Amino acid sequence: MQVDTSQTRQARYEMVETQIRKRGIIDSRILRAFQMVPRHVFVPAGQRSTAYRDYPLPIGAGQTISQPYIVALMTAILSPSSTDRVLEIGTGSGYQTAILAELAKEVFTIERIRQLTESAGTILQELGYKNIHLFNGDGSKGIPEQAPFERIMVTACSSRLYPAWFEQLQEGGKIVLPLGDSNHQELIEGRKMGGKIQTITHGSVVFVPLVQDE
Ligand code: SAH
Repeated sequence: MQVDTSQTRQARYEMVETQIRKRGIIDSRILRAFQMVPRHVFVPAGQRSTAYRDYPLPIGAGQTISQPYIVALMTAILSPSSTDRVLEIGTGSGYQTAILAELAKEVFTIERIRQLTESAGTILQELGYKNIHLFNGDGSKGIPEQAPFERIMVTACSSRLYPAWFEQLQEGGKIVLPLGDSNHQELIEGRKMGGKIQTITHGSVVFVPLVQDE
């Protein structure tokens, strides 16, 4: 698949430099991951020219692909190492999934809207990722058969830290999630230590809500 043109490569380089590095995310592994993943293939065809801009975009089914800086910030907070198995809740476009797959050993990602699961699966397969395992379903239950995970990232706003996530997080492991409701959400970093979660708050964010299936 012909993915890049000189324009998309240039736009991506500028996105990394001006939206990510200049705002203080300087980890070379993370910057390299953002340079590697062609964000424009994860957005709807009609939106490709705006894929590298400094804002979120619609991806269909009422969902959005987050602003590049927010994807980078969450990735930097999560800081997955190359030996980590990562659980991602809310695959959406699959863009954040691909970034995580550049950094971690394996990524297990779950999306509840079938149309998005399928389109993300097609794109990630075409890009050749072999370390991504995609599931369709309700991520509030995690993926018990694949636990434990060293890292968990939630990319939809949750009103709580679900027991399944706590149970499936390895001791010493880290979870990053937007916590709150439609009025106010904060980006939370949680570390599982001594069977408890110790949290750090990273400021306000805006995410689509996590929807729990009955
Ligand atoms: N990281 C994504 C952003 C996706 S937006 C990206 O880079 O494109 C959040 C996604 O979470 C949406 O696709 C939404 O359908 C999904 N979602 C919401 N509730 C969910 C749940 N309970 N389980 C799994 N996915 C969920």
